[in-house]
Order: sequence, then C-alpha cells, then structure tokens
Amino acid sequence: MGRTRTGPRPLGAAPTRYSQPAMRRSDLLDLNEALQFPGKRLVFEVETRLESEEDLDLLTPVTGTLEAVSTGSVLVIGASLSARVVLECARCIAPLEVDLDFEMEDDFQVEGVPSSWARDGQAKVVFDEPEPLFHNNHLFRDRYIRQGLLLQLPLQPLCSGGWDGPCPRAADSPAAGMEPLPGKIDLRGLLPGAGGDS
Ligand SMILES: [Zn+2]
Repeated sequence: MGRTRTGPRPLGAAPTRYSQPAMRRSDLLDLNEALQFPGKRLVFEVETRLESEEDLDLLTPVTGTLEAVSTGSVLVIGASLSARVVLECARCIAPLEVDLDFEMEDDFQVEGVPSSWARDGQAKVVFDEPEPLFHNNHLFRDRYIRQGLLLQLPLQPLCSGGWDGPCPRAADSPAAGMEPLPGKIDLRGLLPGAGGDS
C-alpha cells in the first residue's frame, strides 16, 4: 500500500462527504483525514465566487465537487467544476458569455508517515511555491480552483465564427474602427448621426 496510485474509487474506503453551504470564510478545506488515512477519499461540495479574483467576471459561482485521496506518498486532488463567465470578444470587445465545464487533477508530494500507519506518524503535504496552496494540511480552495479555471479560458474568444470572415458585431459597431486590419473600411462615417449627406 502506498506504492501505487489508487484508482478513482479505492475498495473498502467509503467516501466522506462534506458540504460547504456558502461559507465565505471557509476557503480552507481540511484534508488531514485523507493524509493520515491513505485510501480514504474525501469529497467536498464546493461553491465559490472566487471573490479575491478581480480579473474574473463570474456570472455564476464556480460549483461542483472536489475530492482528495492520499496514497501515502502522494496526495491526489481532483475536481469537477462548472461556471459561467463573461469574456470580451478579441475582435470587437463585445461581452461574451461562456460556459466552462472542466476537470482538474493534481498530485502533491507527501512527507512523513500517516498516523494510521505509525503511532507517532504525521503525514504532511508538501508544496514549495511562492503562493502556498496548503496550510497545515488544509487546501486553499479558491487558489486551487482559480488555477484550474484560468487554464480553461480561451486565449482569444470570438463572438462568432472565427478569424475568417467578418465579425458581425465588429462590422456593426463603432468599435470596428479599432480593428488593426490593413485595408479596413471605416464604417464609422456611415453610422447614423455621424454626418454625411445631409
Ligand atoms: Zn466580436
């Protein structure tokens, strides 16, 4: 035990479910039980607005489940999440609503012997990064989820079609003048009230 990575549902380990009903301050998820009892899977129901993430425009909270299970030497954290966000069209900067459904899975090194294996044992998850993801075997839920969500965002979201052919909104709006395309037609002069043949 502890040498191979466990599958999605280790036999004999009934998942422990925790729900987190809109607990704003409870950004910290206690994973100690998973760390001290390898094979035991913890399941958290999560719902967060990622309030510290000012660059993200969430239309709905990020919701889903987050799971943690330890092999003894590796802590595996997985999540299945969804959210609706507002982005900007890369061509016409029109607001664009995008549904995100994504999965996360990450491995983290564990040091020490789980307490269920040795009387004076104490396993601890290790994470050497400038912005810590863990504190005393607790996971900073929002930091973790934010990482996964940012990876899901399209780099150049477009409100239609693609880069071939005109962006319908860009062609209709004054913002068309902002498109840095050579040979563009400046449509702003054709807009009502822009002054033309009077
Ligand atoms: Zn557009």
